[in-house]
Amino acid sequence: MSGLSRQLWLKLVGLLPGEVNHSEARWLLSPHGHMPLMNGRRARIIVNRVRLVACLFAILTPLWIVVDLLVLPLALSWQLAVARIVASLAFFGLHRHYRAYSSLLQAWGGMVCLFAIPSVFYVVSHLLLLNHHLEGISAAIGTGYAFLPFVLLAGLAIFPLTLTESLGFALPALAAHMLGGMLEWTTVDWPSFWGSFWLQVLIAGVAALACISQLAFMIALVQQAVRDPLTGAFSRRSGEEVLELQATLAMRCQSPLCVAFIDIDHFKTINDHYGHHAGDLALQVLAERVVDQLRKGDVLVRWGGEEFLLLLPNTTASQAVHALGRLRQAGLGLRPDGQPLTASIGVAEWQEDSVNDWRQLLELADSRMYQAKQSGRNRLVGRDLEQHGWLLSPAVSAAA
Ligand code: GH3
Ligand code: MG
Ligand code: MG
Repeated sequence: MSGLSRQLWLKLVGLLPGEVNHSEARWLLSPHGHMPLMNGRRARIIVNRVRLVACLFAILTPLWIVVDLLVLPLALSWQLAVARIVASLAFFGLHRHYRAYSSLLQAWGGMVCLFAIPSVFYVVSHLLLLNHHLEGISAAIGTGYAFLPFVLLAGLAIFPLTLTESLGFALPALAAHMLGGMLEWTTVDWPSFWGSFWLQVLIAGVAALACISQLAFMIALVQQAVRDPLTGAFSRRSGEEVLELQATLAMRCQSPLCVAFIDIDHFKTINDHYGHHAGDLALQVLAERVVDQLRKGDVLVRWGGEEFLLLLPNTTASQAVHALGRLRQAGLGLRPDGQPLTASIGVAEWQEDSVNDWRQLLELADSRMYQAKQSGRNRLVGRDLEQHGWLLSPAVSAAA
C-alpha cells in the first residue's frame, strides 16, 4: 500500500467499530488470510441469512399477485403471476435444500442463487411490461417493478462481507444497469438513467459499509470467543474446533498432522512462592516464546491452566521434534527465581501413530506427556523415542 492510501485506510479503519485493531483491519478488505474458524462461522451466518430471506421472499412474492390482478390489465397480470409463482418456488427450493454449510464457497453460491432469482424475475417482468402501455395507477404499479435492482443492492447490507465481496456482488448489478441503458440507448431517458445509476452506486456504497461494519463486529466477537484473554492463545473450545477441522483436512489429503501436548513443570510452586501474578506472567512469556517460533498455520491452544496444545499441520513427527527441540533451546522463559522454565512434552502424529480420529491423537500426545513427567520432566516423548526407549535429554539449561 502506498503512503497516501495507507493513511486513508487507517483513517477509514479508525471510523470503524473500535473492536477491530490495525492488524485485523486487512481482513475487512478481502477474505484472503481469514482463519478457517472465522470462515466457518461467517459461512454459517451467510447461509442462515440466505435461507431466512429466501423463506420471506417465497411467502411475499406471490402475495402481490392480488394487487396486480386488481390494477393491471388481466393478460399482463396473469403473465406476471406465473413469473411470481416460479420465483416463489425457486425461493422455496433455495430455503428448503440449501443446508447449514460451513464452506465459504457454498455460502457465496447461496448468495448468488438468492440474487439470481429476483434478477431473472426482474428481466422477465421488464420484458412483459414493455409490451403494455400503462397509465394512471397501473403505471405507478408497473414502475414499482423497476425498483427491484435497488432492493437487491440494499439487501446486500444484511450480510457480513468484506469490501471485495460486497463489490463482487454489487458490480454485476451496476453493470447490468449500464448494459440495459446501452441496449436501449435510442429510447432511454438519459437524465433519469444517470439519476437512477447514481442512486444505485450510493446504495451499493452504503450497503458495502454496512457489510464491512457487520464483519468488523463479527471479527471482534470471534476473536473474543476463540482467544484466551491471558495468553492470546486459542481457547480450548475453539482449539478443539480447529483440531477437528485440521484432522479432517489432513486425513482427506493424506498429509501429516502433528500435535504436541505441553505441560509446564512444577508450575504450582511459582504461584505458591511468588504469587498468582508471577504465574500469569510466566504463562504469557511461554505463549509468546512458542508463538515466536511457530510457522504460519501452526496453532497454539491453551488447553487448561498450565497446559498447552500445539497443532502442527503438514509436519511429520521428526520435523515436530526438531522444531520443539529448537524451542527448548531458545527457552520457554524464566521462573521468578531466575531458573529456566521447563515443560514436559508429548508428541503424536496421526499417520505414523496409525490413529484415525483426532481424539485418539490427543489422548496419545497426552499420555506421552505423562510419560515425560514420570520419567523425570523437562523432556519430550514421541513414538520413536518411546519405541527406542530413548528420551530427549533435558533441555540445555544454560541456553534457557
Ligand atoms: P507438574 O510438574 O506435575 O505438572 O506440576 P505442576 O505444579 O505444574 O502441576 P499442577 O497440576 O500440580 O498445578 C498446576 C497449577 O497451575 C495449579 C493452578 O493453581 C495453576 N494455574 C492454573 N491456571 C492458572 C492461571 O491462569 N494462572 C496462574 N497463575 N496459575 C494457574
Ligand atoms: Mg497440568
Ligand atoms: Mg504442570
